[in-house]
Amino acid sequence: MTEPSHYWIVNTRIPDCFIDSAMREQARDIPIASTLQRDRLFPCHLEINHGQIAAIIPNAIDSISSQIPTESLPIIDAKQGMIIPCFVDLHTHLDKGHIWERNPNLDGTFQGALNGIYRDCTEQRNWNYDDLYRRMEFGLKCSYAHGTRAIRTHLDCPPHQFETTFQVFRELRDQWKDKITLQAVSLVPLSHFVTDQGEQFADAIADLGGHMGGIAHMLPELDDYLERMMTLAKERNLGLDFHTDETDNPESRTLHRVAEAALKYDFKSQIVCGHCCSLAVQDEVTANETIALVKQANVGIVSLPMCNLYLQDRIEARTPRWRGVTLVRELEAAGVNVALSSDNCRDPFYGFGDHDLLEVFSMGTKISHLDTPYGNWIESVTSRPASLMGLSNIGKIAISATADLVLFKARSYSELLSRHQGDRTVFRNGMAIATTLPDYAELDDLLPQE
Ligand SMILES: [Zn+2]
Repeated sequence: MTEPSHYWIVNTRIPDCFIDSAMREQARDIPIASTLQRDRLFPCHLEINHGQIAAIIPNAIDSISSQIPTESLPIIDAKQGMIIPCFVDLHTHLDKGHIWERNPNLDGTFQGALNGIYRDCTEQRNWNYDDLYRRMEFGLKCSYAHGTRAIRTHLDCPPHQFETTFQVFRELRDQWKDKITLQAVSLVPLSHFVTDQGEQFADAIADLGGHMGGIAHMLPELDDYLERMMTLAKERNLGLDFHTDETDNPESRTLHRVAEAALKYDFKSQIVCGHCCSLAVQDEVTANETIALVKQANVGIVSLPMCNLYLQDRIEARTPRWRGVTLVRELEAAGVNVALSSDNCRDPFYGFGDHDLLEVFSMGTKISHLDTPYGNWIESVTSRPASLMGLSNIGKIAISATADLVLFKARSYSELLSRHQGDRTVFRNGMAIATTLPDYAELDDLLPQE
């Protein structure tokens, strides 16, 4: 698709959390429809010039503007469709992705997921360079076509595997750098960092430009592990990213321990904790105590609503009784930075998924009742994860910001979250990109069925 580099997108609606407060104030007197007020959508026109947003002009609904100053420029009429910044996926597992046909999780349990990955990665040793590169790149192709701008992936690091994985990650990050900003986090038992290899492993992560992470379990040694990790991370100026409390056991309070350790050891770099499911099955006093500590320690939270819905409370021949997600609303109300992300895709931890943050937002909204009011929850798949990844220029709609935008035909949140929006337009550097998804058959030769 060829397009001019200087043009207007007229008659669009942008969630007002992305609009500068001065501009919102300036547009205060423009009458807008009550549906827009309810959904907090800001009607406007956007001028795009050489890949950047050059102007944002407030617009009263349905008055195709006569005030657009440069009539001679080409115009894309958004017909009141919504625009948001490109997505940011804070928590994924690209290295596990798309192995479902090879090693499905047929009982759908958490243990079944662990077994499936162990079989695929360690027993069968399937994760060679070519296998990993192609599956991870498949995930990137899906993400890019859906409108994702940045991704953090956790990487399984068993001793026989991590060097190959790090090499593939490095090459993909380089190959894809103009399309997707990629970050890596190690995924190991936390005990790994107190072994003889711990320091060397931390060096390898630093050398990769990644962050340190792993799965926190309620062990008597947990505080020792956290102290060690915080020391190693501080020495190397790395962030931390944990899988915490991915369980329905209320006794699991690893999120609390992480926040406590961050304060105790004065850890200042960004910490992100994912899952935090057990927070939702604890009594209110206990949960609130943790939430307050998380806020105080400035820990960011990422909820993985689709994967939690899939794995939590799964017992054979029984209907699940809870949705598996953490207390996103309470965390947000306490001022914690809460993101929503995809987690796994078509692997033993989650049998579905397509790296589409709109689907994550849509499912997250329905699972966690983030609708009416929608508030600023659209930030949970855009600007908030960008900020937790330290990417301050991503996830914004502002003058001089890069025009990395997703335009939908949907004119309201109800329309947005009722269809899959496969006909969305993704603008990167102001140009519409091809949004065709890769064909599953691309991976057929890697995936003989077990
Ligand atoms: Zn995960």
